[in-house]
Amino acid sequence: MTDFAGEAARLDAADPLAKWRGHFLLDDAVAYLDGNSLGALPRATPERIETVVRREWGDGLIASWNPDGAGGADWITLPQRVGAKIAPLIGAGPDEVIAADSVSVNLFKLVSAALAHFRGDGHRRRKVVLSEPGNFPTDLYMVDGLEGQGLATRKLAPREHLEAALDKDVALLLLTHVHYKTGAMHDMLRLTRAAHEAGALVLWDLSHSVGAVPVDLTAAQADFAVGCGYKYLNGGPGAPAFAYVAPRHHRALRQPLSGWMGHAQPFAFEDDYAPAPGVDRLLAGTPPVIQMSALEEGVDLIARIGMDALVAKSRRMSEFTRRAVAELVPELECISPADPKARGSQLSWRHEHAYELCQALIERRVVGDFRAPDALRLGFAPAYVRYADCWRAVSELRDILDSGAWREERFAERAAVT
Ligand SMILES: *Cc1c(COP(=O)(O)O)cnc(C)c1O
Repeated sequence: MTDFAGEAARLDAADPLAKWRGHFLLDDAVAYLDGNSLGALPRATPERIETVVRREWGDGLIASWNPDGAGGADWITLPQRVGAKIAPLIGAGPDEVIAADSVSVNLFKLVSAALAHFRGDGHRRRKVVLSEPGNFPTDLYMVDGLEGQGLATRKLAPREHLEAALDKDVALLLLTHVHYKTGAMHDMLRLTRAAHEAGALVLWDLSHSVGAVPVDLTAAQADFAVGCGYKYLNGGPGAPAFAYVAPRHHRALRQPLSGWMGHAQPFAFEDDYAPAPGVDRLLAGTPPVIQMSALEEGVDLIARIGMDALVAKSRRMSEFTRRAVAELVPELECISPADPKARGSQLSWRHEHAYELCQALIERRVVGDFRAPDALRLGFAPAYVRYADCWRAVSELRDILDSGAWREERFAERAAVT
């Protein structure tokens, strides 16, 4: 039998990222394997929030919108500033990404923009949005909303048949790069090329990718992307999301949430809308300054650690856990790809009592999550997870199954958020 405990100890001792755990406020007694759902709290964030609230807001008041306000706060450019810092993590240029709103709202804006492209002059009318069944719900629901307005036709094809489903009516291929439940990663390069060959545009949802796996939107020639700020970017609950638009689409980009912050001159107070240049026109209303400042801290930290090192550790760590579960907890059926390069920074296993197993784990301070109907999911945020945490998850799972501890009634009660 493999000595996984010893292996975990050796891997932790040799981990070049071990020192970064101290940059997060984490309870040492907790094995936090849910950073793919809500990232941990960077140590620098509470102090930043204190400064934003007390000094910039409290003392600086309205002057803090401008760069010459108290402490040079410059709140008004936060969406561009934070967007420019996210850009290198996804292979984008600094003027191609903006931080704003939620992923759902950004999906609405960009799916609408893609459909508007095919209603424009010189284009064949197309309104099919192609996605896959089992995509993250909000991605599918936002297309439903556009379908209800007569603007889109939703079409779903299983991932093996996506390329065959790219016919001349498809306007947009809308996919989540790393699947939230299985962790399976799409081949961004191949699918983007296939969509373009069929005359369609592509929108990638990078919510489970950014800060966890290599992404190069420029090399893939992707058209649009969105992503989440509160997962691997550690921006805090409800952190703003981001949106990417390839420079070739900047001039013609039209999105329907034409709010004043996306106007070319918001403070000219004109009656008629004129879009700001580039991705700035994706803004609708006033940026949530406090939450955006927290996101900036999270992004700064991930950028300092560096994507190459994060990706290397993520792969090694998920592979260690996959092997340990396969050997020691064989009753769990892994539904994630076995090849670390074909998956995100997470693993999921199917089990009839996955919900109860997950609750029993949490009581033992090993935090993963459950995804309906029957998946236990563990995420490996490489910035702060220790190999020892992974080993603890495996050994506790073995014990929970052997002792039958998961059968206790309290583990079957479902909470509103799982
Ligand atoms: C987390 C996540 C979202 C989140 O959407 P919000 O509107 O920001 O709540 C969207 N898509 C995917 C794939 C996600 O994993």
